[in-house]
Amino acid sequence: MLNGEQAQALEDLGVRVHVPVKRSVNHQGDGELFDRARFTYDAQADVYVCPANQVLRRKQLNNADKVIIYAAQASDCTTCAMKARCTQSSRRMVSRHLYEAALERMQERATPQAMRLRRCTVEHPFAALKYQIFEKARFLMRGLTGAGTEIALATLAYNFKRAPAVLGGAQMLKKLA
Ligand code: SF4
Repeated sequence: MLNGEQAQALEDLGVRVHVPVKRSVNHQGDGELFDRARFTYDAQADVYVCPANQVLRRKQLNNADKVIIYAAQASDCTTCAMKARCTQSSRRMVSRHLYEAALERMQERATPQAMRLRRCTVEHPFAALKYQIFEKARFLMRGLTGAGTEIALATLAYNFKRAPAVLGGAQMLKKLA
């Protein structure tokens, strides 16, 4: 699963990732309160607009979690007819990931057609790596360097096994010559 920062970094490299975004749902009020999906982001004004058409403005940046908090005016919320369905606090807050736009673009690319194509072309090599090359679903080595080395060697072995099936024996020998 990719986070927003990784999605943006890949976009900057020209890599277009097709992965559905995992979103947490609003569990507050036993999940009865408006989810953030009910709030519309206005990129030009950098504000959210709530279901009652009130504006939530940028309140603070949480650098640790890489989110920006937007808050409604308490005066709007206290007089709002929808308050009981929106917040248990004096005013509603909504968070936006610093790389939210990259996450949204990634979600748009994760269409059912793209997911079908991904299942056929990408998941097969990973399943083969896991069960035919590693022979179990775990890395033997610990740490990023160790795991990186292990996956690089496994990928090389997989490509050597797969290439003759794709190219045919004669082409394979020609390429190796
Ligand atoms: S409670 Fe506040 S944020 Fe929620 S719908 Fe009403 S005005 Fe909008």
